[in-house]
Order: sequence, then structure tokens, then C-alpha cells
Amino acid sequence: MSIYIIAGGVSLIILIFFFFLFALYSLLEKEKRALGRSSIVFFLLIIIGLIFYLAEYTLKNWLFGITFVLLFLYLAILLFSPLKRKSTEIVGDQKKVDERDVIFTRFEYEEGTETYEEYYSRRPEYKKIDDEIRKIPDILSLPHLKKNPILNSLASAEFDFLEHQITQVSGKENKEKSQLSPSENTRIIKEIIKYLGSDLCGISSLDQTYVYSHVGRGPEHYGEEINLEHKYAIAFALEMDLGMVAAAPKEPVIVETGKKYVEAARISIIVADFIRRLGYPARAHIAGSNYQAMLPPLAWLAGLGELGRLGILITSKYGPRARLGLVTTDLPLVVDRSRKLGIQNFCQKCQKCARNCPAQAIPYEEKTEENGVMKWVLNREECYKFWRKAGTDCAVCIYVCPYSKSDNAFHGLIRKMTENSSAAQSFSIWADDLFYGRIPLRRKSPLR
Ligand code: SF4
Ligand code: SF4
Repeated sequence: MSIYIIAGGVSLIILIFFFFLFALYSLLEKEKRALGRSSIVFFLLIIIGLIFYLAEYTLKNWLFGITFVLLFLYLAILLFSPLKRKSTEIVGDQKKVDERDVIFTRFEYEEGTETYEEYYSRRPEYKKIDDEIRKIPDILSLPHLKKNPILNSLASAEFDFLEHQITQVSGKENKEKSQLSPSENTRIIKEIIKYLGSDLCGISSLDQTYVYSHVGRGPEHYGEEINLEHKYAIAFALEMDLGMVAAAPKEPVIVETGKKYVEAARISIIVADFIRRLGYPARAHIAGSNYQAMLPPLAWLAGLGELGRLGILITSKYGPRARLGLVTTDLPLVVDRSRKLGIQNFCQKCQKCARNCPAQAIPYEEKTEENGVMKWVLNREECYKFWRKAGTDCAVCIYVCPYSKSDNAFHGLIRKMTENSSAAQSFSIWADDLFYGRIPLRRKSPLR
């Protein structure tokens, strides 16, 4: 047997094995379309291998030789197209964001109330669009409840539960301070957060730029200045169930969002309480109406991921299919660094979220500057308007994002390649469309 036949044969076996794994993982992940298409490629490769094997000797040498050269060239292109990773660029002065301007906060101001009048007299530019959106039934309100009483009631129960936790977020610290070193404190906190249910945790300094300037909602007084002087931000992420997210924009999504916010609240409340028992101030920041700081930029600084085209954090493990939690504290800790994972480079080439967004709220264009940061600026009003029409928090962009694939060895390998190679990014975007579809299929969720 010639060297050409051996090299080409091994190349084909590698390809066949790769597509066998792809089909197997797709089966496990219940990805019907990817399973069908990867199986077709798998069987085609076997047939091609047999045809090559049965060919006349000279032709066989040529066919196997060409197969080897093609695979070799492909791997060489992947390896020798290193990625110059870009990260979030800060290009100007950043002002603190006023929580009163956050879109979810604005819809807590009821027409005819003093707060409503005060807010829109100061920010008249939002009044027309907000009043227009107010005409659409609110998320979890009666018209939506009637569509799916079970899941909407469950989501309402989760969000009500969160509101009841607000009194637990802060408290007095013990007088006696623990004398552990910053590195020991860091190890303990990260281990506890992992033990409590999140294995993606990072620490950053609490950059005051990302602390809201004024209270917009919640138990504190509307308009009050926020003074959050803690030194550190402990950020963590919780994976959302892919089966539930795959039903986007239907009710399972909001149930899953509520569930993860409840888990994030449980973890952050326990961790903040634990830190106070060590003698240091700490505050949990929980979803609903309790954040005093912006989670995505702090999680980015803490090395959990990068900001993506879809306007939220894309984590290193679960992509955007995650919810964030936060504790701020003065407990001495060792800070992590923000990471360059090549996600922003990937987003520059991929527009899958923009293409699939039912509200067309995600930009197709390049990043633009907003408050001193270069980013893809979401049309938040169009996005939220769609949430109210759907009666859920939509999440179509989260589901279709290639980074949202399951956290397993197969996708882990592809993520690693895209982190380092520009050609691997282009190939992965093309392959994601080919195998999962430019418009991926929705699935029935485990809870309906
Ligand atoms: S779908 Fe593509 S462009 Fe959108 S966030 Fe994900 S990787 Fe970036
Ligand atoms: S949540 Fe839905 S409407 Fe909003 S940006 Fe994502 S896909 Fe578009």
C-alpha cells in the first residue's frame, strides 16, 4: 500500500470520526436538523471512502493523495491564521448610568403618578415611545396569562418570590473581622459560589462608573443618590437550560429566566451574609428591582466573558445562555482580569442574532460609541416592545447564538479553535448556518 493511500485513508477516517461525533452529540442535544445533516455527511464520507478504495490503483493513489492534501491545507489554514483578538474599547469619558433611565425601570412609572410626571418632565424624549409601548399588555399580565396559565403563573410566582427577597440583601457585619489573606478569601468565596451552584465566577474592583447614579425602582426612594462604596464586585453566571431557551420566544423562556434569577438571588444573598459574618460589609444585588450596579460590564471586568453584538455578556462557557449574579463587598480579595476570548471578532463576522431578531433591534452595522464605549447598541425600545407582544423576555437572540451551544467536549473544542484562529471563526459561522440553519429550529421545551 502506498504512502498516499495510507495518508489519505487516515485523513478520511479522521473526517468520518469527526462527523460521527458531531452526529452523536447532536442526537444527545436533540438537535434534529444538525443530526440529519451531520449524518448525511458521515454516510457520504463512508461512501466516498469505499469508492476511493475500489478505484483502480493509480487513480486510488491520486484520490487518497488529494484527500490528504486538502485536509492538510485546511488544518494549516486554521492553524496559521492567528486571531488578533479585540476586546471592548473604552474610547471616551463614561458617565454613570441613572437607573431611572433603564428601560425596565421606566415601565414601572404609572401614568398619572407623581413619579411618572417627574420623570417625563425631565426626559421628554422617552415619553412618546414609552406611552406607545404602554398600550401593549405588560409581560405576565392577564391577556398573556390566558394564553398559557400554567407557565405564566409559574413565572409570576418566581418573580414575586424574588421581590420578597429584597429585605435580605444587606445587613450589619460582625464586629470581629476575619484575618484571612486576600488570596485565601478569594479561594473560599469562589469555592462557595461553585458549591452553591455556579462554576463561573470572577472578581473585579468595583468600578464606580458601573454603579448606578440614582435609584429608579425598588424599596429605596425614587431619585435618591446611590452610594455604593464597596471595593470589590464578585460576579458569577448561571447556565440557562438549553431545552427551555430553545422554545424562545415562548413562555418556557421566562420561566427559565425567573428560575435562574431566583438561584442567583439565593447564591448572592447567602454569600453576602457569609461575608458579613466574616466582619466585612457586603450587599447582594438581585433581579427584579434591586441592582445598584450594572452586571454585564462588571462581569466583563471580572473575566466572565465579553459583550456581544446582541447587547449582553457572552460568557466563556455558556455563551449568552446565562444569567448573572453580583455581590459587592469590602472583603479583601484578589481581582481577576478581563479576558480577550475573540468573541467580539466573532460577532463582527456573524450576524445571526441580528438576522433572527423578531424586532430587528440588533444592529447589523459596526460598533458605535455609547457613553464612551464602542459597542453594538441595541434598539432597547424595539426589543422591549417585542417582549410585551410576546409576553416573555423573548431570548431568540440568545438561543440562535452559536456560543449558546451545550457546554461539552465537542463544542468546547470548536470554541477553543475559534478563540485562536480567524479562519476557524469564519468556518464555524458558515458551518453553524449549514448544520443548524440560518434560522434555527425551535424545540418543544421539557415544561409546557
Ligand atoms: S449570534 Fe453571532 S453576532 Fe450575535 S452575539 Fe452570537 S456570535 Fe455575536
Ligand atoms: S430579546 Fe428578542 S427582541 Fe430583544 S434583541 Fe433579542 S431577539 Fe431581539
